[in-house]
Amino acid sequence: MRRTKIIATLGPATDRHGMLEKLFLAGVDVFRINYSHQTHEIHERRINEIRDLSYKYKHAVAVIADLQGPKIRIEHFKNGKVELKEGSSFKINTELASDAGDETQVGVSYKELARDVKADDVILVDDGKIVLQIKSVDKHIIDCEVITGGELSNNKGLNLQGGGLSASAVTDKDINDLNHAAAIKVDYIAISFPRDAEDIKRARKMMDECDCKAEIIAKIERAESLNHIEEIIEASDGIMIARGDLGVEIGDAALPPVQKSLIKMARDMDRPVITATQMMESMIEHKIPTRAEVFDVANAVIDGTDAVMLSGETSIGNYPDKAVESMSRICEEAEKQRSVRISDHRINQRFDSSEEAVAMSSMYAANHIGAKAICSLTETGSTCLWMSRISSGIPIFAFTRHTATRRRVSLYRGVYPMKLDITHTDPLEANKQMVDQLINQGTVTDGDFVIITKGDLRGKRGGTNNMKIIQVGQALEHTL
Ligand code: PGA
Ligand code: MN
Repeated sequence: MRRTKIIATLGPATDRHGMLEKLFLAGVDVFRINYSHQTHEIHERRINEIRDLSYKYKHAVAVIADLQGPKIRIEHFKNGKVELKEGSSFKINTELASDAGDETQVGVSYKELARDVKADDVILVDDGKIVLQIKSVDKHIIDCEVITGGELSNNKGLNLQGGGLSASAVTDKDINDLNHAAAIKVDYIAISFPRDAEDIKRARKMMDECDCKAEIIAKIERAESLNHIEEIIEASDGIMIARGDLGVEIGDAALPPVQKSLIKMARDMDRPVITATQMMESMIEHKIPTRAEVFDVANAVIDGTDAVMLSGETSIGNYPDKAVESMSRICEEAEKQRSVRISDHRINQRFDSSEEAVAMSSMYAANHIGAKAICSLTETGSTCLWMSRISSGIPIFAFTRHTATRRRVSLYRGVYPMKLDITHTDPLEANKQMVDQLINQGTVTDGDFVIITKGDLRGKRGGTNNMKIIQVGQALEHTL
């Protein structure tokens, strides 16, 4: 059983006949819709197809809606594209008509750009393929020298090296998209380009206003967000290491240590973490990954990521299903390493609540008695989240009556959603029902140890206060 979760981005390639079902069966845990592209109708159709598959195969998966945020783009060229020559002058003109770009200048989506930049700053266009150094700024005209030239076409993204643009993280388009995401009941909202915790809090307030129950994933993709990283993690429900934009702003060489420390911080702060962008990039065109990509995915697993994400590989690639299969295989193999199964998480820390203490004790007991499975009867999934912060090879089964909880826990490493409603059954039956489900699916057999956690009061949130160690085969009827 793979513990690391796989996220696949939807797009034209997953619309091909039967592809979504293939991805579903290949084991995608979370699907991502990207509000930077396509219409609300298309997103809605795709979500409905996923929910139908979920129903057909009785398997919960989560959906992340990724908001575009203040992604800055150049506008259009008269001829669609231009060739920029090294050493020549090129202007970004915030007042130029949006389709009037040529070899000498182009418009930009962010009209405040000229106020946020100064001479000597470096502007990176198209993921850093084009490098422009600012010579002077005069009102709405930013005059640059082309340092690295090449072909530049319409709508390419623009970043400032080192960060420092003041655009706020939630735009008017995002608010409109957020309302749509709330209506189609996505499980997570990814906030793009947050600078600090204020941006996350503002997003949460807007979500409350449109009655959006989803949790927030903060995309770490701005240089300045690293200066506020603790407060951003604290304010959100999980993070995404968005290596694309982040790498442009802080430089690609700075990414590996940042990835490692972000994964560790998120885990230490009990938040799930997603490693994203270009993990299997060459598989957009090829049937097998490069060796470097194999190592990248495996290293993220060894670093402790909850999930690895596919973007273009599944949304516009030629082989979405093969990308998922390869990723899955690499994760499983990496998870066999001893170092990813042991943990000193929280070894010297106090716990804040009885649930957390039970969660931690269960993992300790499970690891030491060699339990084959952990069953957690849960309302919100938080006990499972705590458990999954501890590296271990033991599967954690989240038994819950809530569809939303089953979907949400799909993102957590080593946690598997299970359906169980015991509100109207005899409480003395619950243990047996959980263990029976595990026996039926072949996870445990006679003699295996299983750990069960639950609360005294059924249906109460945050009430986990007991742990039970049982051996499969032992009579479980009438045990509390
Ligand atoms: P994007 O974000 O795919 O929305 O650009 C991810 C990244 O920047 O890495
Ligand atoms: Mn990005």
